Amino acid sequence: MLLINKVLEIREHVKNAKKEGKKVGLVPTMGFFHDGHLELMRQARKECDVVIVSIFVNPTQFGPGEDYEDYPRDLERDMQLAEEVGVDVIFNPSVEEMYPDGFSTYVEVKGITGKLCGRSRPGHFKGVATIVTKLFNSVQPDVAFFGQKDAQQVLVIKKMVKELNIDVEIRTVPIVREEDGIAMSSRNLYLNDEERKAARILYRSIQKAQQKVQEGERDVNSLKGAVIDMISSEPLAKIDYVELLTYPELEEKDVLEGKMLLALAVKIGKARLIDNAILEG
Ligand code: AMP
Repeated sequence: MLLINKVLEIREHVKNAKKEGKKVGLVPTMGFFHDGHLELMRQARKECDVVIVSIFVNPTQFGPGEDYEDYPRDLERDMQLAEEVGVDVIFNPSVEEMYPDGFSTYVEVKGITGKLCGRSRPGHFKGVATIVTKLFNSVQPDVAFFGQKDAQQVLVIKKMVKELNIDVEIRTVPIVREEDGIAMSSRNLYLNDEERKAARILYRSIQKAQQKVQEGERDVNSLKGAVIDMISSEPLAKIDYVELLTYPELEEKDVLEGKMLLALAVKIGKARLIDNAILEG
């Protein structure tokens, strides 16, 4: 497995691979791998001849007072895990490589970024869209892999790729969960034992909503209410948002019809956790 830090080097590497007719896959990450990340890499390994994983904790997608400084980092451990699932190249640029002095060009997707995490974290998706564009331009992959764990992020990237005519196919991988249902996340590291137990309430409340849909409930407010009540019963959990919006448009609607995205963001201790599911009426 190769470790590359420079844009020009990764570009050269990919150019040579493509000359040989190879299909190139990119898995963009912020590192500190868990099985969710590894599942994206396994999917990429299945589909592509060359698998590149980028590791970059992107400062522009963190707001003031968020956890940019504290975000867990362990390149050595990540390299070992990536090698075990057959990754070919780790692209690990420095902040200066991606954002040289005087950097002033950003990509902004309007509309859907005003909802959910975009509303709670102003500027977050501008940072995401900008770094993903830079990664796509640096690596020029044929296919890129993203997790449904960040459902809104996938929608933002698909829209950006379509509207900016970026030549890459986007694949989505289902949420990978711990045995007790908690969605895997690098931020789960912030939880102590008690908080970790409390975090089960996110997926439990999603399951509650799924059960109500199965029993025939279609009223969006009742479904949201059931989720909110359940999370509120957990003293360590503080709701940021609970939303049930049309999918993929992310619009409000009173009755569950077709596909809708149930999305939650909940603070437990110093971790802000997100989870989601598509409900179908
Ligand atoms: P991150 O390093 O948190 O930015 O995540 C990198 C990629 O892994 C993103 O596309 C995430 O959606 C995806 N991802 C993170 N956690 C999970 C998970 N539990 N299941 C599936 N994909 C995930």
